[in-house]
Amino acid sequence: MDALRLLQFEEYGAIAQFTRADAPGVSCDSFASLNLGLHVGDDPEAVRKNRRIAADIVGLSETRIVYAEQVHGARVAIVHAKDAGRGAYDTKDAIQGVDGLVTSARGLGLAILAADCTPVLLYDPYAGVIGAAHAGWKGTAQGVVMATIEEMKKLGAHPEDMLIALGPAIRGCCYEVDRPVTDALTAMYRNLKTQESLPFRASERTPGRTMVDLPTLVRLQAETAGVPHEQVVDTSVCTHCMPGFFSHRKQRAKAGRHAGFIAIRPRRLSLRGRLR
Ligand SMILES: [Zn+2]
Repeated sequence: MDALRLLQFEEYGAIAQFTRADAPGVSCDSFASLNLGLHVGDDPEAVRKNRRIAADIVGLSETRIVYAEQVHGARVAIVHAKDAGRGAYDTKDAIQGVDGLVTSARGLGLAILAADCTPVLLYDPYAGVIGAAHAGWKGTAQGVVMATIEEMKKLGAHPEDMLIALGPAIRGCCYEVDRPVTDALTAMYRNLKTQESLPFRASERTPGRTMVDLPTLVRLQAETAGVPHEQVVDTSVCTHCMPGFFSHRKQRAKAGRHAGFIAIRPRRLSLRGRLR
C-alpha cells in the first residue's frame, strides 16, 4: 500500500489520498523513500522524481497539481485551472503565504505537505468544491480549517454537505507540548461550539507538560463550521509512533514530507442519493 485512499471521497467522484513515506521513491537515508518536501535539505532532483511517482500513485498529472507555501498561518487561497503546476517543481512558485487551498476546477489537484502537522482534505460533492489545509498547532490555533471552509463557501459549498479527512498526524499519544501551545489552543477552543472537553491530558513523562490531540481540535473546528460528525473521516494514523510516515518530532531537521492530494475527477459522475 503506497498511500491511504479515501474510499468515501472516491465514491463521490474525487481523488483523495495521503502518501506514505515508505512508498517506493528515490530518496535515501532519513528521506527514504518518498520524500515530497523540496525545502527539507533532500536532493531536489530526487524530490522532483518522487513528486512524479506520487502523482502516478494517486492518479493525477504532476503538471495539474498546485502546492501552497505553508507558513503555519490561517490564510487560504482560491486557485484556478491557470494555477496548475504551481510549486510542483520549485517552492518559490507555490501559492505564497497560505496554508489552505480551495478550488472548484475539475481535474486540478491540491497538495498539502506534512510531517506531524495534520493534513486535512475537504470535499463538497454536490457543489463540486474541494479544499486542502495544513494544520499544525499554530494554524489550528488560528483556525485554518474554519478559514478553509469559509473559502469553500464562497465557491458555493455547504458545510453540511462536506466530507473531511484527517490525515496522518502526531496524536495525543505522542504530542507533548508546553504552556504557550496549550494557552493558544485553549483560547481557540473557547470559541468552538462543542460539548466535548479539550483533548488534553497531563504528560506522565514530563511533569508540567501536556499531551494534545490536534486532529480532534481540527475535527471540532469542522463541526463548529457545520460539518456533521459522521462526515469526518479520520485515518487515525500517528506519524510519531506508527511506521511508514515522516515525523518532524522524531527525525528533527532530517524529516521528509508526505502529502495529502485531492482533486475532483475530470469526468462528471452522476451522484445518486445524498450524503445524509
Ligand atoms: Zn503516537
